[in-house]
Amino acid sequence: MSYDQNNIFAKILRGEVPCEKIYEDEYVLSFYDVNPQRKIHALVIPKGNYIDLDDFNAKATDKEIVGYFKGISKVAKKLGISVDIGKGYRTISNLSDHGGQEVPHLHFHLLGGEKVGRMLND
Ligand code: AMP
Repeated sequence: MSYDQNNIFAKILRGEVPCEKIYEDEYVLSFYDVNPQRKIHALVIPKGNYIDLDDFNAKATDKEIVGYFKGISKVAKKLGISVDIGKGYRTISNLSDHGGQEVPHLHFHLLGGEKVGRMLND
């Protein structure tokens, strides 16, 4: 499968669709999920065109990989949910069909601000 340039997160990255931005640097963009599942529900996406975590790890440079994963912790800290200054949070990344991925641009969900509950309910 090739990267779909018209997915909604690609449009957000190109500035064609607005987002409620939390954090941005050379490697990542973070914004609030439009359909929050917990008190705090943020998304963190890499700036490069990667479909999912497997695609990212196969094609991204080491710098991009480090920049992305460090970016996730920077966002958590900015939101006050990181383990050092807050009470923790959950990250989820869905991959493809069985993973239930809806938007084909790599993203991690950050869920927190309250106890997020059991990992899977069904
Ligand atoms: P996933 O099922 O892991 O692909 O999750 C995609 C997420 O993107 C869902 O939680 C949606 O609510 C969220 N989403 C879709 N469109 C937007 C948007 N324009 N801005 C922010 N979040 C969005």
